[in-house]
Amino acid sequence: MFPAEQVALGKRAETIVADEKGVSLSFTDGTSARVGALLGADGIHSCVRTAMFGAESPRFTGIVAYRAVVPAERVAGVPNLGAFTKWWGPNPQSQIVTFPLNRGKDIFIFATTPQDTWHLESWTAPGSVDELREQYVAYHPEARALLDACDTVLKTALYERDPMPAWAQGRMALLGDAAHPMLPFMAQGAGMAIEDAVVLARHLEGVAMTDMADALQGYEKARIERAGQVQLGLRGNNWLREGGNADWVYGYDAWAVPLGAPVAATA
Ligand SMILES: Cc1cc2nc3c(=O)[nH]c(=O)nc-3n(C[C@H](O)[C@H](O)[C@H](O)COP(=O)(O)OP(=O)(O)OC[C@H]3O[C@@H](n4cnc5c(N)ncnc54)[C@H](O)[C@@H]3O)c2cc1C
Repeated sequence: MFPAEQVALGKRAETIVADEKGVSLSFTDGTSARVGALLGADGIHSCVRTAMFGAESPRFTGIVAYRAVVPAERVAGVPNLGAFTKWWGPNPQSQIVTFPLNRGKDIFIFATTPQDTWHLESWTAPGSVDELREQYVAYHPEARALLDACDTVLKTALYERDPMPAWAQGRMALLGDAAHPMLPFMAQGAGMAIEDAVVLARHLEGVAMTDMADALQGYEKARIERAGQVQLGLRGNNWLREGGNADWVYGYDAWAVPLGAPVAATA
């Protein structure tokens, strides 16, 4: 159990400087800390990743995504909304995905489509519902009924990153989106982050701070190939389109994989 007095919430790391014996951090509230090791689970715009490897330059995929939530009662005439549902589009960039939220009270809609240009990487920019409906005018009437029920929508560009060659450096390491930001087409971003956390915890168990760098290298070795395969495997947006064996994704047991050994995903 992690001691409660060692948990500090509401802090935003600003600068990170590492040396052989540890890492110094300063926070936006003016405070600072010195730690023996630093694990960066700080998401897609990770400042820990930037401190370790420099700023990255993601590529715009040429795909934009619309996101909306509608009350389920408003789309009660559309069948099968109690489960994850996907309407494939005429090209790999186009799809409409829905799944229930809030125990089925609401329906989440995630629709992607090609677009030539984009300038802002944000998950909170508003979109136009009229434009949304226009983009999917040729879709099945059930899919269109969902879009007709949207009052508001968010519009986001999807950016692509290549798998990183390393996640660990001295006494610092990355996990989750900080290590492997990925497109949503396999719905594996959080899944991979949880797998990272389990495998990392197993590598850190009983490790002295003096052996931390080796333990973090072992964690990286165990995880980097698998996460990279998912990052690349979802390109083309054809995951499970024709069925196929999904065991290499869902059959992985983070509690049982050998420590320090790469576990390649074999499709
Ligand atoms: C619309 C959408 C749908 C998705 N659907 C799925 C799905 O179906 N299945 C799935 O597996 N994944 C899905 N994902 C992906 C999933 O949400 C992410 O992969 C997952 O949240 C990554 O977890 P994380 O902990 O690495 O990063 P995050 O969840 O991004 O958490 C990072 C944390 O770090 C904090 N932070 C950032 N910078 C700093 C700083 N400088 N100092 C201190 N703290 C900081 C942030 O405030 C945040 O709390 C979806 C994502 C989106 C956007």
